[in-house]
Amino acid sequence: MLSKDIKALILDVDGTLISGKDPVISSEVKNWIDNSKKYFYIYLFSNNPSKKRIKLIANQLDLKFTYSGGKPSKRKLKKILDKIPYSSNKIAIIGDRVFTDILVGNRLKMYTILVDSVDHYGNKIEKNNFQSIERYLAKIITGDFS
Ligand SMILES: [Mg+2]
Repeated sequence: MLSKDIKALILDVDGTLISGKDPVISSEVKNWIDNSKKYFYIYLFSNNPSKKRIKLIANQLDLKFTYSGGKPSKRKLKKILDKIPYSSNKIAIIGDRVFTDILVGNRLKMYTILVDSVDHYGNKIEKNNFQSIERYLAKIITGDFS
């Protein structure tokens, strides 16, 4: 990522940093975020309508956040980009869903990173059929068949 001159990361929350039902961030994720802050501006961007949940998680990581993000709509992501002091080609969006996280990033010509969904313990969830379809579509969208 550093070689691509990425300066900021916009992170999905549910399924990316934490299982969708879990209220507590694991120490592994907390350490990863704390270390990443040395290199990147980081912002949380969730479609979850619960301000209470996303604020609770953002507070554990001491990060700014947007809830009810409406991904793949570009509207709220554009507002976030306006607040970040780097151009959009230096900002990566990271998430576990093609049709929300990756699609909105592509629409704004950002660098996108699709990750496996995580469970309660931060381990990757074995892929279900729907995620297999999503990953295939991601390859088509990004042109990355490696
Ligand atoms: Mg997610």
